[in-house]
Amino acid sequence: MGPSPARRVAIVGAGSSGLLLALLLQRQGHQVCLFERAPDLRPEGCGILLVRSGVEAIAAAGIPALLEEILAAGLPVSRFVVRNLRGDLINSSPAEREPGELPSLLIQRRFILEAMAARLEAGVFRPGAGLLCWSQDSAGVEAHFDDGSYWQGDLLVGADGLHSRVAQQLAPLRRLNFLGDRVWRGVVADGSLCRDGEFFVYARGRGVYANVFDLGTDADGVPLTHWGFFQEEVLPADRSERRRLLSEPVPEEGLAKLPADLATLIRATPPQRQVANWSFDIDPLPTLVAGRVALLGDAGHAMSSSQARGMTAGLEDAVALARLLGALAADGGAGEGTAGAAPERGGAADPEGTACCGVETALLRYNAERLPVVHRYQERSRQVSARTGRMRRPQVAAEQGPGATGLGLAPTSAAGGASSHSSQADTASKPTTARAA
Ligand SMILES: Cc1cc2nc3c(=O)[nH]c(=O)nc-3n(C[C@H](O)[C@H](O)[C@H](O)COP(=O)(O)OP(=O)(O)OC[C@H]3O[C@@H](n4cnc5c(N)ncnc54)[C@H](O)[C@@H]3O)c2cc1C
Repeated sequence: MGPSPARRVAIVGAGSSGLLLALLLQRQGHQVCLFERAPDLRPEGCGILLVRSGVEAIAAAGIPALLEEILAAGLPVSRFVVRNLRGDLINSSPAEREPGELPSLLIQRRFILEAMAARLEAGVFRPGAGLLCWSQDSAGVEAHFDDGSYWQGDLLVGADGLHSRVAQQLAPLRRLNFLGDRVWRGVVADGSLCRDGEFFVYARGRGVYANVFDLGTDADGVPLTHWGFFQEEVLPADRSERRRLLSEPVPEEGLAKLPADLATLIRATPPQRQVANWSFDIDPLPTLVAGRVALLGDAGHAMSSSQARGMTAGLEDAVALARLLGALAADGGAGEGTAGAAPERGGAADPEGTACCGVETALLRYNAERLPVVHRYQERSRQVSARTGRMRRPQVAAEQGPGATGLGLAPTSAAGGASSHSSQADTASKPTTARAA
């Protein structure tokens, strides 16, 4: 058994999924390029609930001090509180946590991204490089970027999110399904509504839904609160109209449906601390891999935020893929040990010529391990959405590719392999369960 040969890996997309994979693969000694379309890291996105298995994935990554830094930047969720749109209490339950268990975390997304980005080795991060297209053959994989750069190597990973270019080619029938909401999120300097790790849900009604949670304090001790406001709307066919609507503040007629204290909190949020988007998911894909190309995170399984599972699923993907690539060393570099990279592509980094076939083996194992798990997340996410009245609007769904993906809705048979991921998912969905009851 020898060390795994160094592979040349391109990761497309520097969100949480791509960043964690880049950290893990650089530690394994691979030649990693992390391409990002934006001119810099994109740390926007307000607060998130990182459920326990997401925190556990960061722990499992074993990147020195990363877990500690992220735990220190966040706040353990303490209680889920469900209210109706008048503000009356429907249900309140503590977040369950056994002694020694890691918490589910309320945290600003940017702290997770920045903590990871700070650990990248020099030269790994390639901002300002949007993927245009990729191709592969028996000798390797290559990619072209909109800054004119060209990459070739052994493995290409699409961690490029909901609108993934990598996925467009890998799964041409992948398309986005509109979930029926325009969504605003913000972070505001306020500690009056929820405190000490509380997570409030305002149950869906009259075409709106909201959540609010405590984000602790900033560096100056000022309390911070995250809010999300969802308003049911029809997706305009015209893309420029969609963009225009996303630049609008939360409409007053929507705020009027909320309790006065929550509406006041939203109005008090500076525009630069708000983001807006249309909510989409994708149907479960029939595969996450093709040859030497793999999908990671939202690129492979974007789902609604109903279960707070999206970031967690991508972090789990990264840990699994890195582990399986690392395990090739235990197989003697590839298992097969033939049919390596062409000399001009793989010679220097992969003297035994095992990178390509070994990579393909690892990707097949990654697909076998992760596909049932993410299908189950997608299925549950849709079940929770359905229970809480969040509708899919298929009449405006076709956003990418000519038709539906191969598997359609909720492939329960494919989900059988997932086992140990349900407790936090249930916790995260408690508010909605209570509402449905
Ligand atoms: C309203 C809302 C609330 C949410 N709440 C939660 C929550 O509470 N908990 C949770 O776990 N999840 C939540 N999510 C989901 C979570 O944010 C995502 O699942 C997660 O951020 C996905 O990470 P990613 O790295 O896979 O993709 P992204 O974070 O989308 O990163 C993709 C990156 O790829 C880049 N990129 C795109 N195209 C290209 C290209 N062609 N070339 C190069 N780079 C490219 C993008 O610029 C971006 O930086 C929420 C999502 C929404 C919309």
